[in-house]
This record gives sequence, C-alpha cells and structure tokens, in this order.
Amino acid sequence: MATFEESVEHRMLRDAVASVGAEYGHEYFAEQARTGGNTDELWQQIADLGFTSVHLPEAWGGGGGGVAELARGGEALAAQGCPRLLLLVSAAICAEMIAEFGTDAQRGELLPRLVAGEKMAFAITEPDAGSNTHRISTTATRDGDVYRLRGAKTYISGVDESFGILVVARTGIDEDTGRGRLSLFVVDADAPGLDRTRIPVEIRIPEKQFLLHFDDVEVAADRLIGEEGEGLRQVFRGLNPERILSASICTGVGRYALDRAARYANERAVWDVPIGKHQGIAHPLATAKIELELARLMTQKAAWAHDHGADPVVAGEAAPMAKYAAAEAGLHCLDTAIQTHGGNGMASEYGLADLWGLLRLLRIAPVSREMVLNFVAQQSLGLPKSY
Ligand SMILES: Cc1cc2nc3c(=O)[nH]c(=O)nc-3n(C[C@H](O)[C@H](O)[C@H](O)COP(=O)(O)OP(=O)(O)OC[C@H]3O[C@@H](n4cnc5c(N)ncnc54)[C@H](O)[C@@H]3O)c2cc1C
Repeated sequence: MATFEESVEHRMLRDAVASVGAEYGHEYFAEQARTGGNTDELWQQIADLGFTSVHLPEAWGGGGGGVAELARGGEALAAQGCPRLLLLVSAAICAEMIAEFGTDAQRGELLPRLVAGEKMAFAITEPDAGSNTHRISTTATRDGDVYRLRGAKTYISGVDESFGILVVARTGIDEDTGRGRLSLFVVDADAPGLDRTRIPVEIRIPEKQFLLHFDDVEVAADRLIGEEGEGLRQVFRGLNPERILSASICTGVGRYALDRAARYANERAVWDVPIGKHQGIAHPLATAKIELELARLMTQKAAWAHDHGADPVVAGEAAPMAKYAAAEAGLHCLDTAIQTHGGNGMASEYGLADLWGLLRLLRIAPVSREMVLNFVAQQSLGLPKSY
C-alpha cells in the first residue's frame, strides 16, 4: 500500500547523501563553477556511497533500487547547495537506458564504469531540430561492422568529464510517416572525427556545454543500444527518469533557498522586529513552501509510477507534470529567497543568485515548459494538437 511515511532505507540514503553535500557545501560548489573547475571529489564520494547507481540492477553492481531513490538523493544533494546536472544526464538517462535496452555485454562493460563513478553525456539536441526530435538530422549509416555518424549536436553537457556519449541518430526513414527512424549509440568522447567546441552560457554550474560535430565518426556496430530504428521509443522511456531527476534538483534548490530565507528572515531586523514578522515577507515564503511541497509530491508520484511500471499513460503524464511543477516552484522559492535577502540576495556571499541560471534552465530543458503544456493539453485533456 502506498504510504507517505519515509522508509528507514530512504531516510538513510537521504541523510548519507546530504551529509556529503554538507561536507562540501554551496561555497565549494559555487567556487568550482565560477572558476571553471569541477566537483569530481564530491561526485566520486557519492558514487562510492552507491548513490549514483542506487537505481541500477544489483547484477551490474547497482543498488537494486529505483528512480525514487535516485531522485531522493538528487534532491538531498541540491538541498545542500550542490545541484549536479550530470545526475540527470549520466545517472538518470544514460545508465537507465543502457540497463534497460543494452545487451548483457554492453551492460557488463558500461554499467560497472558508471557504478564506479565514471560519467556519460547524452546528445539529442540539434541546432536545427530543437524541441522537434523528429527533425533530427545526424545520421548513422551502416558500413560493414561499423556505423558512420555525421551531423551536429548542440548544448551537450559534461562531454569533457565523460568517457562516452549516448547519441541519438537517424538510421532511416519511416515510410508511413516520413519521419526519421532513430537509434542510440554509445560514442567514445575522444573518438576520431568528433570535434567539440565549448558554448559559453550564463549558468553557474560545474557542467560545461559543447557543440559537437560528427565528421564520419566510426562507431562499432556493437555500440548500438537496443534495436535499430527503435531509438525514439527507447528515448521516451529514458526521458521520464530524466524529468523526475530535473524535478528533484529543482525541489532541492527550492528547499535550500527557503532554508536560507527563513533563517535570514528570523535574524535580520531593520525596524524593531525581524523582517519575517512582516507579512509582506512571510506570506510569499509560505506560498513558495506550499508550492514546493506540492511539486515534491508530484515528483514522488512520478518516480513511484515509473518504478512500479504503472500504466504508461499515468507514468508518461506524471513525469512532465512533476518537472513543470518543480521548475516553477523551485524558481519561485529562489526568487522569493532573493527578495527576502534584499540587496544581499544578489551578493555572492549569500549563495542564492548564482543558482538562478540553473533553475531558469530547468524551465527550458530537458523539455521546455511549453512542450509540457502542449503534451498535457493534448494527452491529458484531449485537446487538438496545436502545432
Ligand atoms: C545549459 C544547457 C544544457 C543542456 N544540456 C543538454 C544535454 O546535455 N543534452 C542535450 O541533448 N541537450 C541539452 N540541452 C538542450 C536543451 O534540452 C534544449 O535547449 C531544450 O530542449 C529546448 O530546445 P531548443 O533550445 O532547441 O528550443 P526550441 O525548440 O528552439 O524552442 C524555442 C522556444 O519555442 C518554444 N516552442 C518550440 N516549439 C513549440 C511548440 N510547438 N509550441 C509552443 N512552444 C514551442 C519552446 O518551448 C522554447 O520556449 C541543454 C541546453 C542548455 C541551455
């Protein structure tokens, strides 16, 4: 029976990840992000704890849990001011898809590396396709024992800290629909013919973004994950964990921001009372807290639905709804916390404004607010497709 009580295992996981996050803290995270560093030590420590692979099958060294556990830990880390975008890319989407659709040989080779703390990037976005995945034009052409990849991917996070990239490419055309038939490939991050150019972005996170050019990149045929031409169906399955992790990072940052704001509002007095006594400060914080808890509930529901193989309609609807709700709630918490701090809200010392770029990004990616609304209007409400 579903319960709202946190299990002992969940609490232990959350506490263990939170204590690593607290050991490093937001100052460390922000400094690494500001100076172009990474947070490898932090990542390695949570990997050694078993957290980054908690959702993977025990047979491959994972924890045997689900996305619910991964999301809880991701939130706990973000709530300490250390939100890692690669958790949703490497752990949620790449590892999940390899575990689900890879052969035993692929699982045996790739999953232990991820369990050990190595990382993977995920490349679906293209300059000319954007939100319309059907327009992907990077091609993978079979040539004997290899595929040859040609095309470009943009805004791909963390390529510099990954050993491989899970790439979505077109391997054919569906004659009925005229749309591309997509497939998934694991490409070595340093493969010959793969060129990467850094894209500067105004977001303070350790992950860097890259424009990738595939110029006849040779990929062994046994690096195809799952079935040729079934990539879109596989990606759609992997996107739910990615969205759930995005949601948990947003709620984690929301918790972090509200904790700081509540502390500040209790301490700061510019008239004769703490500013938290003014309803103009207290009510927005209370509103943000309610929105945050609602988003956390939806995120838990989405994770539960994914892990329990719930009706695909329920699971497919819950994950984007959670992602939408959490991005809005997280941003609202952060903005309210900044307002509560007055001018100090913009100071590096208070560790709030630097997180705005990440949350603002999570309103756009991995799926934009508008595309979630399109989906809900069409799939949940039965309204006509608008585009
Ligand atoms: C920092 C950063 C990291 C990223 N990391 C990765 C990564 O690791 N891997 C990866 O593959 N991608 C990554 N991305 C790309 C990201 O997923 C895309 O930017 C996002 O999916 C939106 O696509 P787009 O930028 O092409 O926007 P577009 O598709 O061009 O959309 C532009 C705007 O139009 C709206 N829009 C588009 N179509 C419709 C419609 N039919 N109805 C209503 N509104 C619509 C969108 O919601 C958006 O607001 C990253 C992006 C950034 C900025």
